[in-house]
Amino acid sequence: MSLRAGEHRRAHFAHRPGATCVAGETALHAMAIRAIADGLVHQSHQGRPYPMAIKCDHCDVGRMADLAREPGLSVDVDRAVAPEARPDILVRSGAGDTLFVVEVIVTHAPEESALEAFKRLGLRVIAVRPTWDALEGLREGLDALEAVDGAPKPGSTGLLSECRLPRHLADEAEHLRPCGECGADARVLTLEVAETRCYRCSGRARVLDVHLREDGRRVAVAAGAVELRGVAAVAREMNVRLEKRNSKAAGTSYLANVCQCGALLGDNFIYEGFSSTESYETDLTTPVRHYEVCRAGHWRLLAERRWPPESTAWRDLGARGLCGDRAGVFEEAKPLVSVTAFDNSADAARAIAHFMTWGRRW
Ligand SMILES: [Zn+2]
Ligand SMILES: [Zn+2]
Ligand SMILES: [Zn+2]
Repeated sequence: MSLRAGEHRRAHFAHRPGATCVAGETALHAMAIRAIADGLVHQSHQGRPYPMAIKCDHCDVGRMADLAREPGLSVDVDRAVAPEARPDILVRSGAGDTLFVVEVIVTHAPEESALEAFKRLGLRVIAVRPTWDALEGLREGLDALEAVDGAPKPGSTGLLSECRLPRHLADEAEHLRPCGECGADARVLTLEVAETRCYRCSGRARVLDVHLREDGRRVAVAAGAVELRGVAAVAREMNVRLEKRNSKAAGTSYLANVCQCGALLGDNFIYEGFSSTESYETDLTTPVRHYEVCRAGHWRLLAERRWPPESTAWRDLGARGLCGDRAGVFEEAKPLVSVTAFDNSADAARAIAHFMTWGRRW
């Protein structure tokens, strides 16, 4: 069946709104599979990209992936990879290695058991929810469809497998675990670097962004020296200077981001930042580090992940998870204080710094 026939059918069904037509759905499913399978192979053999936008709400990241990056792709259509898993499209490298699968969803999402099997086989699962309008474009890529995370709807793409963006913290990262070295409470944190222009030396100034996972969300941690023992040494490795500073403005001393020129900088190790006009951008040339960090100050590097090309990463300024003496990283039931709770205060930076140092509001 050709795509032209598809367009004809589309017009045909458009005259019968609301009609449940199994034949039409089956045709859309089949033609979308054909278009994607042909498109992937064709683009790959022509040395051209087959783009797909990826978005992860957990990571606050979007990126444009090229599914035809590997040369000489081949595909299997509707062939079983396990007794319970028969993907619409299985994509193989030129060498024949399985790379990922594409599931075209018109009515039914893949069964859980199939998704389990794909996971077991280490296969990324791309979901495409085609429309008749989008059909023709599927030969060139999936980027005309809207990238969604969750909330499936027609005319969209998404991942059904775990996000592999460098920031991503898996579900398990929500929980405390015993430190491998001393057995104390530990949890997984990500460290990355953001940059701004230093107000004093005009150079690129680097600040540390620390995040944990909570309630399925990525949460910024603003930490005083109290809880994140050893963070300054790790920051130094990432070319970020953290120093205990006495701030007259904050009326207290706390661990602050400092430019190489010595100027105090803002944000998670706060001087200003969340409440200020300084603007920071995530440095995508510095890999994201995942650490297991314990109360006693042991830092175990779990992974170091580079940002893939064409990533866009934004910083969520609605950060929570401030930790001081008693609220913070190592409490399972956390009396968290939210940064936004400080936002309306004219003295937000001061109040936050105070909280971080003393663990209580003033
Ligand atoms: Zn993610
Ligand atoms: Zn430890
Ligand atoms: Zn500076």
